[in-house]
Amino acid sequence: MIQPIPKPAPVRERDKEAKQVGIVYDDATLVFVHERVLEEILDYSEQDATRELGGFLVGGVYVDSREYVEIAHYVPAVDVKSRAASLTFTHETWAAMTREVQRRYPEDMVVGWHHTHPNFGVFLSGYDLFVHKNFFSEPWQVAMVVDPQRTEFGFFQWRCGEIVDCGFVCVRDGGHGAAEPAECSGDKVD
Ligand SMILES: [Zn+2]
Repeated sequence: MIQPIPKPAPVRERDKEAKQVGIVYDDATLVFVHERVLEEILDYSEQDATRELGGFLVGGVYVDSREYVEIAHYVPAVDVKSRAASLTFTHETWAAMTREVQRRYPEDMVVGWHHTHPNFGVFLSGYDLFVHKNFFSEPWQVAMVVDPQRTEFGFFQWRCGEIVDCGFVCVRDGGHGAAEPAECSGDKVD
């Protein structure tokens, strides 16, 4: 069981600006996403609109006034079995991801996963729920689904033992006065 590390939430850092998107539950882990990571994931998601793409959300789980998860990096999945409406992480996918995370982000860990639903909307299918329950079962692990054709995305998390869609807090480096980012104010399923 991984214990959250005490660390001030990104909203407390003076050079950061945070914006809540969607509904953030009081009784679930707070999700912080760095805007540059959101941009990276959305760009990657648009690279192929004919089949599903996926990857891993990397960061940490911390505690400040409450427990929160911080998504600080993204690692695209390799060696996936990808079709128009399905994505399978193979043994090679997991092995490569573990190597990549340990090499590039030795201080961090996998806090969730991402995949695309080209033109069929933002939700978790029965198979997606199976993947989340079996491979992302920690209460702070999240799933992100992007529909690159409809330009929609959303996050899902554990809440009271169920997997529900959720809002997040977008963190932008650089502080006040910066232009409003499209990603932080973008579409969100409700
Ligand atoms: Zn799916």
